[in-house]
Amino acid sequence: MPKGGNAESPCARAILHQQVSPPVHEPLESVGEPSYDGSIIKFDEYGRSMPRDLAAMDLAAGHVSKALPEPVLSGWGRLPMPGRELLSEHLEQATVGAVLSRGLGRSYGDSSLPAHASDRVVATRLANRILEFDEASGRMRAEAGVSLAELNRLFIPRGWFSPVTPGTKFVTLGGMVASDVHGKNHHREGCFGAHVQSLRVRLADDSVVVCSPEQEPDLFYGTIGGMGLLGHILEVTFTLQRIPTNWLVTQSVRVGNIDEFLAELGTAAPAWPMTMGWIDCLNRGRGMGRGILMAGRWATVEEARAKPPRPAREVVFPVELPNWALNATTARLFNMGYYWRHLAKRASGLTAPDPFFYPLDAILHWNRAYGSRGFSQYQCVLPRAAGPTAVREFMEHLTRLGGASPLCVIKDCGPEGMGVLSFPMEGTSIAVDMPATPGLQAIVDRLNEFVIAAGGRIYLTKDRFTRPEHFRAMEPRLPRFLALREKWDPGRRLRSAQSRRLFGDK
Ligand SMILES: Cc1cc2nc3c(=O)[nH]c(=O)nc-3n(C[C@H](O)[C@H](O)[C@H](O)COP(=O)(O)OP(=O)(O)OC[C@H]3O[C@@H](n4cnc5c(N)ncnc54)[C@H](O)[C@@H]3O)c2cc1C
Repeated sequence: MPKGGNAESPCARAILHQQVSPPVHEPLESVGEPSYDGSIIKFDEYGRSMPRDLAAMDLAAGHVSKALPEPVLSGWGRLPMPGRELLSEHLEQATVGAVLSRGLGRSYGDSSLPAHASDRVVATRLANRILEFDEASGRMRAEAGVSLAELNRLFIPRGWFSPVTPGTKFVTLGGMVASDVHGKNHHREGCFGAHVQSLRVRLADDSVVVCSPEQEPDLFYGTIGGMGLLGHILEVTFTLQRIPTNWLVTQSVRVGNIDEFLAELGTAAPAWPMTMGWIDCLNRGRGMGRGILMAGRWATVEEARAKPPRPAREVVFPVELPNWALNATTARLFNMGYYWRHLAKRASGLTAPDPFFYPLDAILHWNRAYGSRGFSQYQCVLPRAAGPTAVREFMEHLTRLGGASPLCVIKDCGPEGMGVLSFPMEGTSIAVDMPATPGLQAIVDRLNEFVIAAGGRIYLTKDRFTRPEHFRAMEPRLPRFLALREKWDPGRRLRSAQSRRLFGDK
């Protein structure tokens, strides 16, 4: 029986305690992996990649041709690690003895991947029951594996929406808390964690605790944005927001260069609750940093269309493109087309939630476009204090280094939240996808040096290539996070491939 909720209402009757859906994505495919030192390594005849030294040993012993492909796990960047995941609808049981939880694997890098092939990794996506919902306040308690796609499907028609949503709906509540995700409304609403009231967490010693701002607050704020390293999130209690209709009033502006972009972002932020921009980061000269700025707000009843939006049609990216398909020339052509498709300088209208919040979700498996080599996303935030010059110089640096691709997103971030390692800080965030070429490690190194000098930081959920010394230099909050790990997991039992790389976990 829901606490404080109206269990007799049709909404509660329809939703509570049901598993809201079967898993919403197929297992992720994965081919190709850079080794820890960042150099790209060899593939065997099964398309399997191995650390260079192992590959050399196997080749020398003549094993490679006979070896069966090992199971691998990967994130959205499709750079795999040996490992397997345990899927269970009973998170409480499955997480006993586990060292890592993962949701839908939409983190790009290695945060949801095991440090060792034998590590017990629990996939939460079958544990997707909504446990309580209070229709007066919007407060919900749900299992960590509930996906945003399912929440949207069930709750948008009922007039509720997540207070914060990332650019994909194929994420779980557990993943949203562990990465403390931000959305187009960060300048108004902060991160998802700011809307969480409490968490039920299985700790490294296998005990289960409930934490909140009042109860074990250090665990609560360490778990928000803590990349699953303080405990397995079993349940999340948070508050949905009321929406007046299921349409958005949107505006898009074609912007000529990065300085104009920053000025437009500054003007849009007080006027619009949601803003973000796409940047053509391949264009040089006076048009460097040109792009399209998008802004939106929920439409009022008077503004909205009478009929709800039709469900978005999903198309599957049918094949993995060859690695050469996405190169500087094709990316430049794509960018030019995308930029000039926006013929009017300014356009406005009504938009459905899916194309506004999740344009990339319209094409399932779009990550195949980067080919078998996989890719990474570099996302950093540069503090407001560093000024527009820092953003312009970063963009120039990025273009010069050749790390650019068609996907480059710029966002305005509001003040830093309470999550001990949460990513956003007041300033400008830039995210860019980069194919995993042999030069990628060097590009990330140079960008990180720039970010450190500017006083910024990178986003762990996207990262795969940052060196530990760079992370230490950009993250003054790291000692506090490590002290929390020492308190809640002194044996460092909980770990990921990312924590092994960045924090020296065994
Ligand atoms: C197209 C696209 C757009 C995106 N846009 C944004 C954006 O706008 N803003 C933003 O902030 N992010 C964005 N992301 C990143 C994404 O929101 C995060 O990586 C999110 O954490 C993924 O959720 P997931 O359920 O897939 O988690 P996973 O990728 O499976 O895991 C991510 C991290 O969460 C931990 N974790 C997951 N579940 C649990 C649990 N139950 N208990 C403990 N730890 C757990 C994992 O160990 C890992 O460290 C985007 C990703 C994609 C692919």
